[in-house]
Amino acid sequence: MNQNLETLCIQAGYTPGNGEPRQVPIVQSTTFKYATSQDMGKLFDLEEAGYFYSRLANPTCDAVAAKIAALEGGTAAMLTGSGQAANFYAVFNIAGCGDHVVASTAIYGGTYNLLSVTMKRMGIDVTFVDPDASEEELSKAFRENTKAMFGETIANPALNVLDIEKFAKVAHAHGVPLIVDNTFATPVNCRPMEWGADIVTHSTTKYMDGHGAALGGVVVDSGKFDWTEYPDKFPGLCTPDESYHGVTYTERFGLAGAFITKCTAQLMRDLGSVQSPQNAFYLNLGLESLPFRMRQHCANAQAIAEFLSAHPKVAWVKYCGLKGDKYYALAQKYLPNGSCGVISFGLKSGRKGAENFMEHLKLGAIETHVADSRTCCLHPASTTHRQMTDAELEAAGVGADLIRLSCGLENTQDLIADLAQAIEKA
Ligand SMILES: *Cc1c(COP(=O)(O)O)cnc(C)c1O
Repeated sequence: MNQNLETLCIQAGYTPGNGEPRQVPIVQSTTFKYATSQDMGKLFDLEEAGYFYSRLANPTCDAVAAKIAALEGGTAAMLTGSGQAANFYAVFNIAGCGDHVVASTAIYGGTYNLLSVTMKRMGIDVTFVDPDASEEELSKAFRENTKAMFGETIANPALNVLDIEKFAKVAHAHGVPLIVDNTFATPVNCRPMEWGADIVTHSTTKYMDGHGAALGGVVVDSGKFDWTEYPDKFPGLCTPDESYHGVTYTERFGLAGAFITKCTAQLMRDLGSVQSPQNAFYLNLGLESLPFRMRQHCANAQAIAEFLSAHPKVAWVKYCGLKGDKYYALAQKYLPNGSCGVISFGLKSGRKGAENFMEHLKLGAIETHVADSRTCCLHPASTTHRQMTDAELEAAGVGADLIRLSCGLENTQDLIADLAQAIEKA
């Protein structure tokens, strides 16, 4: 049966048997018991599926990962301890020392650092590309040793909308998969795999959890990228893994399972950034209401973006749901039912006005966080980006006046009233 998203959010990933818990149980156990060494040996050889140690697999985490795989239309998924870990694993599963990746410049700052500083130290080179560039221009960034292309559906915090089909086309023309971080859109508003993305990642810390309760991440595989067409480029998936009893992932697990099995059996085994079963349980509660919450986040953001754009003291507003927005057309294509609850804007009173405005907000709290039930805001120029001069801020696309506002789930009119009084006082 082809189920709709609201149903999958509630039911996918876990089907209890007779007399078993209706809610996904928190299996708070590091280890699992077997009668004979032989029984357990089969698990080590990946001959049989089962649990023996929660760094490699845990029933709570597996149920929640399976739910997210269903939501994204993927074949398999793996939970990680944070979104940072998810993006690291997704790239490192196919790129190593001496390799290269192409990434959009419009990505989360943490991912930018991960690629440009930490993974660079591991010998992986990155070329950043303007996501709005033409296919020809994007193609110029590719090299013989390029192993993946990376972008974000809706960039945090730049709010660019990615032309996923264009990126997928260019990536596939160069024989590499497209990895898309779908954190801001969530599968409710966009399923990148339907547009050609091969791997999807999330910081589940954001809308998926949605209550600011638990850090987490996930890597989802579409099962569509045919690694075996390029065995020289992806030897980790197409040749025996000597560290895992000589298993060849594509042969043993097929395209549907190779990527995530390698990610788990090899990278999670060695690096261990697991999501705890407790956090997976919180994440699962968040997922149950995700479609309903996304509708309200988007409705609030749309109403607030419209209110702000009509306000005489507001200089500019960036939100892809606004008709005049640079990304309106792309949003209509990829995010027809709504984008996300995050908008950015500037007041005519500039940097000083932004600081005053935020101090006078009563409902919106000043936080570095985004995408949870409580409205929050951030003035990057006086916090996360405070070392930069006004000219540097402008060049980075984060002007001195920029206010990032993450619209929560409060009543729309209450939020607008709060913004209105704060703008008057700014
Ligand atoms: C927050 C965020 C991350 C990092 O996730 P953590 O859970 O904080 O590690 C990665 N990508 C995007 C788009 C994010 O918003």
